[in-house]
Amino acid sequence: MALKGKEISIIGAGIGGLAAAMALAQKGARVKVFEQADGLGEVGAGLQISANGVAVLEALGLRDAAAKLANTPEAVVLRDYRGGEVVRLPLGASAVARYGRPYWQFHRADLLGVLAQGARDVGVEMIFDHRLTEVSQSKERVEAVFSNGKSVQADCLIGADGVRSVVRGMALHGQPAEFTGQVAWRGLVPASRLPKGLFENAAQVFMGKGRHLVAYPLRGGTLINFVAVEERASWADEGWSLPDSPENLRAAFQGFAAPVQTLLAQVDETFLWGLFNHPVLPRWSNGRIGLLGDACHPMLPFLAQGAVMGLEDAFVLAECFEAKGIEKGFHSFEAKRKPRATRVQKGAARNAWSYHLRNPIFRGVAHKLLGMAPQNTLLGQFDYLYGHDVTAKS
Ligand SMILES: Cc1cc2nc3c(=O)[nH]c(=O)nc-3n(C[C@H](O)[C@H](O)[C@H](O)COP(=O)(O)OP(=O)(O)OC[C@H]3O[C@@H](n4cnc5c(N)ncnc54)[C@H](O)[C@@H]3O)c2cc1C
Repeated sequence: MALKGKEISIIGAGIGGLAAAMALAQKGARVKVFEQADGLGEVGAGLQISANGVAVLEALGLRDAAAKLANTPEAVVLRDYRGGEVVRLPLGASAVARYGRPYWQFHRADLLGVLAQGARDVGVEMIFDHRLTEVSQSKERVEAVFSNGKSVQADCLIGADGVRSVVRGMALHGQPAEFTGQVAWRGLVPASRLPKGLFENAAQVFMGKGRHLVAYPLRGGTLINFVAVEERASWADEGWSLPDSPENLRAAFQGFAAPVQTLLAQVDETFLWGLFNHPVLPRWSNGRIGLLGDACHPMLPFLAQGAVMGLEDAFVLAECFEAKGIEKGFHSFEAKRKPRATRVQKGAARNAWSYHLRNPIFRGVAHKLLGMAPQNTLLGQFDYLYGHDVTAKS
């Protein structure tokens, strides 16, 4: 076993970093995860995890723990901004029948908690308040230096530090991520503050000119999660997520359907995210330093696949390390993952365009055509995505 006793430092305790830590520790590596934040706390937000992500949770041994916290939606419903149903794609039991596993939705903090507990149970050490500032390597070892002056050495370092990865900049000279011209508000509203049954158990997408809003229930229907995206010319803020006034959100979605207005009227707190992206990196590793997740292939959220790709990466990277050792393992990982990550990244960008059609006549025609398409054809578009199982033994 090429991994037994190897010391691995992972930068970033997001979905990708924690899943990789657990997968690698299960194969005998001694893993430390360094996170700049002071804990795993996460701004209230939902995450959809399709069957291909559930496959990885299952392979890690986390299926039962995750199932207890998951919401299983019955459908994805695309709607015109005024509320009219454009198309309904069944999930629930249909997703299980088609892909072998469910389509789940989580409070992000719940899924992070499940991964963190799983990682701790196999001996992963999690170290908070450590912001990576420098990384260097010799033939045998990698050294990471943190802003608090501490440093650590290991056999290998994995940058799971997200779309604004510093590992990418330092070790791979990757270009900085750029603002995509889109912002997203995220937030949660207690269902008890809304009329009963206002939102069915589905992921509903309300599509308007240059903007759309997605809403779905979480935690047994006690919370309604929303993501509201708007196109914008610029993003002036230094950070990439900041608290914003709910009034700005309400103003942006004026004229949307009544359930959207009712939901947004109850928003007390919301965060605004600038959506940043960069093309899939040409190289994902340099010697003993490599990347996974958003750090090497960020995804716009319009296919709900960024975190899922992080899960897939984690599983595949651990298999590649076990089979080939570290440096060759990184190469094999890149060869296996790049075509898929590139395809999904492009698919997510295309969805941004089709959700936001600006010309009302064109939008009307496009929605009509979508509504007329046979359901099997529509569902078939997602088979390459949800039906793919990185954990299947070939
Ligand atoms: C509005 C919105 C909705 C989304 N919805 C979905 C969805 O439904 N389903 C889905 O699959 N994906 C979704 N995504 C995408 C998903 O959130 C990301 O793709 C995913 O979180 C990426 O995981 P990651 O582990 O690669 O990086 P991240 O989750 O970004 O984690 C990176 C971690 O690294 C830490 N870090 C960064 N720099 C340093 C440093 N220098 N030192 C130490 N630590 C550092 C950060 O603090 C962070 O904890 C959505 C994204 C957005 C913006």
